[in-house]
This record gives sequence, C-alpha cells and structure tokens, in this order.
Amino acid sequence: MSMLTRRKLLHLPVVTSAGVLAGQAEWMPLLGFVPQEPDRWVKTVCRYCGTGCGVYVGVRTAPAGARAVAIKGDPQNHNRGFLCVKGAKLIEILDAPSRLKHPLIRKDGRLVRASWQEAMELVAARFREAISRHGPDSVAFYGSGQALTEETYVANKLFRAGIGTNNVDGNPRLCMASAAGGYTTAFGKDEPMGCYEDLDHADVFLIVGSNMAEAHPVLWMRILNRKEKNPAAKIIVIDPRRTRTAAWADLHLACRPGMDLSILNAMAHVIVKEGLADEEFLRKHAVFGQGTETNRTWEDYRRFLEAYTPERAAADSGCRAEDIVTAARWFGARGREAMSLWTMGVNQRTQGVWLNNLIMNLSLITGKIGRPGSTPFSLTGQPNACGGVRDGGALAHLLPYGRLVANPQHRAEMEKLWGLPPGRLSPNPGLSAVDLFQALESGEVKCLYVMCTNPGQSLPNANRYRKAMASPDTFLVVADAFHPTRTTELADVVLPAALWVEKEGVYGCSERRYQLLEKAVDPPGEARPDLEILLELGRRLGHENLLPFRNAADVWEEILRVCRGTAYDFSGMTRERLREAHGLLWPLPAQGHPGTKRRYVRGEDPLVPPDHPEPILFYGRPDGRAVVWMRDQKAPNEQADTEYPLILNTGRVLEHWHTATMTGSVPSLKATRLEAVAEMHPADMKRLGLADGDTVRISSRRGSRELTVKENENGREGSVFIHFHDPGRLVNELTIDAYDPVSREPEFKIAAVKVEKVAR
Ligand code: SF4
Repeated sequence: MSMLTRRKLLHLPVVTSAGVLAGQAEWMPLLGFVPQEPDRWVKTVCRYCGTGCGVYVGVRTAPAGARAVAIKGDPQNHNRGFLCVKGAKLIEILDAPSRLKHPLIRKDGRLVRASWQEAMELVAARFREAISRHGPDSVAFYGSGQALTEETYVANKLFRAGIGTNNVDGNPRLCMASAAGGYTTAFGKDEPMGCYEDLDHADVFLIVGSNMAEAHPVLWMRILNRKEKNPAAKIIVIDPRRTRTAAWADLHLACRPGMDLSILNAMAHVIVKEGLADEEFLRKHAVFGQGTETNRTWEDYRRFLEAYTPERAAADSGCRAEDIVTAARWFGARGREAMSLWTMGVNQRTQGVWLNNLIMNLSLITGKIGRPGSTPFSLTGQPNACGGVRDGGALAHLLPYGRLVANPQHRAEMEKLWGLPPGRLSPNPGLSAVDLFQALESGEVKCLYVMCTNPGQSLPNANRYRKAMASPDTFLVVADAFHPTRTTELADVVLPAALWVEKEGVYGCSERRYQLLEKAVDPPGEARPDLEILLELGRRLGHENLLPFRNAADVWEEILRVCRGTAYDFSGMTRERLREAHGLLWPLPAQGHPGTKRRYVRGEDPLVPPDHPEPILFYGRPDGRAVVWMRDQKAPNEQADTEYPLILNTGRVLEHWHTATMTGSVPSLKATRLEAVAEMHPADMKRLGLADGDTVRISSRRGSRELTVKENENGREGSVFIHFHDPGRLVNELTIDAYDPVSREPEFKIAAVKVEKVAR
C-alpha cells in the first residue's frame, strides 16, 4: 500500500457519488459529499466518532421545509476539511426510512402509535408510582456519549437533584470508563492532557489495542502525514490482530489476548535498565504506587520491574523478546518525542484501568509528557462521551466536572449550585451499567429511561439483559431517533427523538475540544429534541423549579457556572464564542482566553500558576504529582480451555459505527461489511475442517450464534474476530459481562468460545 499523503489528498476532488463512496473500502479520508449545491452551509460536528471532525451541512430551503442536501469537512477545524467514509455520508441518516416520527406505546404486547400526551402521561405515572412505592433508587437513567451535553446535564440534574437517585449511568461505561479510571488514578482528574496537534510532532507512536485506521481514520491520516514528513518516525502497534493499522506499523507486537500488561512492564524494564528513564522528572513530578497506596519508592518500582524481563514478557505474550526491547528503545530514546494512543482493546478489559496505568507509566518514567509530540492520549469512541458524560459527571459515581458522589464537599458544592437543601443529594453512588441491568433483572430497578443508545445490542451477555428489558415486570422507556432498534423492540414506550442537526447543543471530543452543533433542519414528524422531552418529564414529575430552561443555550449558561473554579473550568466558553470558533479546548476560564492545548503545562494551562517553579504541575492531585503504578500481569476473566478452546475478540470496521442504527440506514454503507462474519485463522479452519463460506455455530458459556466463517490470516491462531455492528447477528450474546473492578467496564474483548460446522 503506497503512502497517501495529505498533499495528494488535497488534490482529490470532492466525492459526488454514492457509488464512488461505496467502493472506498480503504481508510482514505474524503472531502465531502455534494450531490446538490445548497442555499447555505451550517457549521456543525460529525455525529459519529470521538474524533469530532468539524463539518458543514449544506441546506436547501424548500416549501416543505429546509433539507440537508450536502456535507463537507470544515477546513478550519482540526480535521482540515477531511472526513472518513462514514462522515461523508452523514446527511443520509436524516431521511432514513427507519426514522421514528411519532410516539409508540406497548399495548397487548405490540408497540402501537400514541400521542405525545398519552405517552408522557404513562411515563410520568409509572415513574411516580415506582418512586412513591419503592423509593427513588427504583428508577434509573441510562444515557449516551452521543447525546448533547445540555441533554445529559438536564437528565443528570433531574435524576440526582429532582428524583433523588444517583442511578445515572450510560454507554461510556462500556467503552471509556477504564481510560477515565486510568487518568484519574494517575493524574487525579480525568481526560487527556495532550491534543491532536501532538500527532504532528511525535517521533514514536505506540498504539495499543486500537485499530485507528478503521475506527479513527482522520487521526490516522495525521499520523501517516507525520510519517511522510519524518520518515524516521516509528509506529509500534500492540494488538493480537494484524489490523489495517498494524499493517502500516514499523513494529507489530501480535500478543496473545490479555497478555499485554507483561509487554508494557517489560518495556518499562528495558527503559529503566538501559538508563532511558528521566529520574529528575520522576523526582520532581511523580510518586510510586501499588494497590491503592501511593507511598512506594523509585527503588520499589525498579525491584517490581525486575521480574518483567523481555524474555518473560515474550513467554507470556508470544511476541519476540528482541521486538519488545526494540519497542522500549524506540519509545525511550532521548531526544525523540513519544505519544501513546489506545482505545477499546485496552479499555474493554477486566484489567482495563491497570493497562491504562501501565501505558501512562511509560510517558512518566521517560518524562515524555507535556511537550509537543509527547503525551499519553486515549482515543474516544463516541462524539460526546468526554464532554457530556465524563466531564458532565453522568456516570453513577460522579457529579459534574470532576466531583464525586462519595465526597461530601463535592455534594455540598453541587447542592449549593443547584439550590438544594443541604443533604439532598444521595451519598450513595448509583448503579453502573452492568449492575444497573442486573438490578433491572432482579426487580430492584422498576423503571428505566434509556436515551440515545441501544443497550439491547451493545451490552455484553446481551441475552440476559434483553430478557430483563423485555420483562413485563419492568417499565422501559426508550427515546431514540430510529425504530426498530434492538432496544426499542423491547420497550414499553418509545419516544421519537430529533437527530444531530435537527437540534442545537455542544459536543466534547477526545482532546477536550468543545464544539457547537447548530440546528440546520427540523426533525421529522412529531420527533422532538431529547432536551424538550426531559424538560417535560421533569415538569410532569414536579421538578420544573429545578429545570427553568427554555432551550439549550439556557442550560449552557448554568453549565458554565457549574464548571467554574473546577479543574475543568471552561467558563469563558460562551455560546457566542462556540458559534464563531471551530472548536475550543478547555481549560478556558475567561472569555479572552484562547483555550489550552496542553494541560498541566505552565504558560499553556491557565490553571498552573505562572510563577510555579516547574514547567509542569499535575494539579489534579493534591501533591501536584502523578502516580507511577506497579501493576502485575493478570489473566483475563476467561481463557481458552478444552471445552471452549478459542478466544473471541470483537471490534469495528471502517464503514460502520456502533450498533449501525445510523450507518446501517445509509444504503452504500449498509451494502459494505454490515454482515457479521467469523474471521478465523487458516490453521484453525483446517483443523476444524472448515472452508470459507461455511456456516458455523459459535458458542460461549452465555449463548450461541450461527455465522458465516471467513478465512483471515491476520488474526492470531486460536482466535476468532467478529465485528459487533450487525443488529441481525448479535455477537454480544457471546461476550462476557465480567468487568474491571475499578472502572466497571466489561471485558468485551476476550471470551472463550467453541466453533462447530453447521453447513457448507
Ligand atoms: S473520523 Fe470520526 S468524526 Fe471524523 S468523519 Fe469519520 S466518523 Fe466522523
């Protein structure tokens, strides 16, 4: 594959036909999709991944109302005008036949059309009944990293401050909670300290458990641009599969599933042994921790690393010891900037937080942090998982902007800001995703409001929780723009929601970049923005005084007050500034402040005092130091055995996104790789007597599923890869719901399975 450069890409024409796009099976970014010239362009943000590409939507005014007719990348935003194949086809989701245009209520087992009045009366009545009979913790909210910040904020406030429960969680628990746990345990506060611009300066990219070329293609293009400008730059990939990303790597460590902690510790072993550690940086800026204690020493850490020789890591992981040494030398080399990037292969693990710690350790022990090109940078799956849910505090243990439910001072602050009597906020953290659905199963939670997400497809061990959602003893409300989904089909009430540019609000993506999505067109039929629906629910439950908002801009005004003075301070990010800017990075504590590319860095981050004696201050922790954690290799929850001898790994493909509710409604994308197939190594297929195209039954301890098998020598022998996008073939019936003890994020990436031939 020849290197495709940005310079060459800039000379590609804007793609204008769906046919051309359908043929784009490579990662190659595009400039847009302009089948018709619009009357005006509206500045907004891509609806899909956490890269948060800036886009313009072209709108045509017609007697029947404005219509989105074109899309192009925003050349002034970080994506420099480029979009991946999903973003370039985004406007087609608006007119999809599966758009839901009116409320539905389940009657006699069937979902039938209802009025808004009837639907909302029923929802409010069932919530009121559950709260009065069983208490506030008998109801719950399950939100999304795709909802707008203002929507998530209002849901959070309604449930915690109004109803009185911390049962507020969401789908970022399934993808980013381990990264949040990693940053919080190492730096005291969540969110990366670096920015996308670091990709232009790094000399070494360590990519762990991420197939960026397919899942974050626009950022991947930026890495390839860097490599073109600086051919000495190295790409190291740690991943069991030879993904499209790994295929470009200078060094691919194809480790055994679950054995990457050993590799990361061995890299640290080599760095320390070969004198590549920055001991002065560590003396000034780090402490050492083990378990939950942070009172260990540099000597303790060195002793801990002694066991992790490259040879031991090689035996654990199946990689070559000399490759592990090379990776460590490249990362640790003095005078070279090094950036680590990771996502679900690290986060969706029962050791997800520990893996995050070990990746961050490499930046800390080499002092490669807080400089252009040197940073530990987690990639995000959803467009507003960072801004709306992690920052906004819409996970069960959090309160807005770095505050914790378990911290009495934080609760008191929020009670004051929300005008509540002291003691009103419950001191008990709520139920996180898997626990929440288990509580639905046990009857502890009676009513669940799901907004903008599809847990009927995306939860691990899906059959178990689908039964709980469908149970006549539970009351499930789903607000969604599409129907049917694998969740709306289980609901008691489905509320039609506006989608993307049919409403206004803020998204916050991976690099602390907040951006305003402007409204461009009206929602179809009777669909309404989630914000309106939540405000009506709040009124019907008697909490209108807590929610005095007319629109999203009013909510944003309150959010600016709530974040002020915190480590997330973006109180200078007014609506007007967001409207004009092409993304703003927090901290941004005053209107005149330009935003912060690199957090914790004196002279860049306004929260570091200008007279601080050192160039770095990790102010997220009271001692101003980050923690280098000692974390041992631990086996995943399930391993291959005689009964289930293969390891299932799930993931993504370029053309689809999450549960494909949106990409599956775009004809050219639907036609490309939506069907889930079981990709297997040729040696395994030979052993099992399988041929390409055979139907196989894949079974785990939780369920079975019949799929077509496809030979793919890029996987490791002993493993099966299946993407999780296909709503007709739920791979999550097989995945495991065991979760990381700190982040409570499930181990989607590793489950033991067996494969049997059904038919040729
Ligand atoms: S890389 Fe992500 S944000 Fe950018 S266009 Fe593609 S899906 Fe959208």
